[in-house]
This record gives sequence, C-alpha cells and structure tokens, in this order.
Amino acid sequence: MSTVFPKSLLVVAVPAFNDNYLWLIHDGHSAAVVDPGDAAPILAVLASLQLKLVAILLTHHHNDHVGGVTQLLQHFTVPVYGPKNEIITGVSHQLSEGDSVIVPELALQFSVLEVPGHTLGHIAYLAPQQGWLFCGDTLFAGGCGRLFEGTPAQMRASLAKLAALPDATQVYCAHEYTLANLRFALAVEPENPALALRFKQEQAKRAQGLATVPSTIGLEKATNPFLRDQIPVIVQRLIADGRLQENTPTAAFAALRAWKNTF
Ligand code: ZN
Ligand code: FE
Repeated sequence: MSTVFPKSLLVVAVPAFNDNYLWLIHDGHSAAVVDPGDAAPILAVLASLQLKLVAILLTHHHNDHVGGVTQLLQHFTVPVYGPKNEIITGVSHQLSEGDSVIVPELALQFSVLEVPGHTLGHIAYLAPQQGWLFCGDTLFAGGCGRLFEGTPAQMRASLAKLAALPDATQVYCAHEYTLANLRFALAVEPENPALALRFKQEQAKRAQGLATVPSTIGLEKATNPFLRDQIPVIVQRLIADGRLQENTPTAAFAALRAWKNTF
C-alpha cells in the first residue's frame, strides 16, 4: 500500500462584481473554481497562471455564484458540481449531504454539507485534509447570509453544523462583507474584547486593500453574533431592546437576523 501525500495547493481569491470572491484552487497546473459568478476574471487568472480548469463547484443558485458557468464550459469541458435541490444550468453532478467530490488532478477531496437557509438547497464543501470550508453565502466573516428562502431555524442549524468543525478550519465565504458585519456585531456585543480586537485587525487589512477572508471557525465562534445567539449578554440585550419576546434559541437567532436586516 502506498501513501498518497496531499499536493501543495494554493487558494486564490478572485475578486468579482462589488464584493464577491470567486475561489480558485490550483497546484500550478490544474485548477478548480468555486462559485464562478463571472467567467472573465477566472479566465484571466487561468491564462496568467497558465492553468487548466478541471472542475467547477457551486454552492447555490444565485447568479453572482453561477453566472460564469456557461462561458467557462465553452473553454473547458469539466464536471460541474452543485446542490441536488436546486436547478442550475450546466450542473453535471448533483450533490447532497455526505457526498464526496474528488478532483483527481489536484488529489483533492471534499465532503458535502447541506446548509439550507440563504437558499433552500445551499451546500458547502469541506476539504478535511486541508481544513478548508467553502460555504458560499451561509457563514460570512462576522455574519451570515440573508434568509432569502429558508427559515431562521434552518439557518441556525446550518451555522451550528459549520461551528462544529475544528476551530482551525479556514472559512472561505463568498463576499467581503466583514467590516459591515463587525460593525453590527459590535452593536450586539460591545463588551466582547475578542470582537473589538478583530474589528481593528480587519480594518487594518482593508486599509491596505487586503481580503479579510478566509477567517477560521475558531475566530467566528469568538466574534460572530450569529454563532453566539445564546450568550447571556446578547439574549439580555435583545430582550431589553424589545427585539425578543419568546426566549428560545430560534427566536433569538431570528431577532438578530431581523435586526441586522435594518442595521
Ligand atoms: Zn447568494
Ligand atoms: Fe452571493
């Protein structure tokens, strides 16, 4: 029996639109892309790094995540992975909870997590060997996706599933929303020193034009209000502000999400 060592892989953030990150994973020869909402910036990076596209992975059906698929398929014939419970043009492999995705060219394996809430079919891709999570618009750095299709209970359960991953897991979310999210987090929990420190650090990154993503599950658990809806000081603040009538975990989460929607 031979041991297969993981290849040395790089994850590149490809900015698109106002604040999207399209994620490109490569080994210097082959590349997989997660959520290519636009083909042009992906094609430009592939050309400049002389990479061949070998796989496309999609988290959910929104156009800023899938809009580049058709054009990429005109340049490369590759498998397109996507959620089983959503209809997305170009998807060749429909995935549900517990499925594996193998990208042989990169010796890369993902397991699939169903994380409904932002959309009903939303999935996330976990690369356990590398400790990478590609979670689309579910868990954001300092926040979470809007509930376009799912319920607060669904989103809360999806975030709990992600929060249960190892603390060192790198969280590759799909948008640079971090500073706005942390401003809200500070309104929710001004007494959290880890949050105050993070806000300063992320502000410094943005001032230098750097991405704040990826973050880690450990950092999110320490600072993201949507993973902290049962912290007593947060629950007390929601009640004191008249935002929470019925004191259940789902109601607290829903109250936070509703507050953020108008913040
Ligand atoms: Zn979305
Ligand atoms: Fe999005």
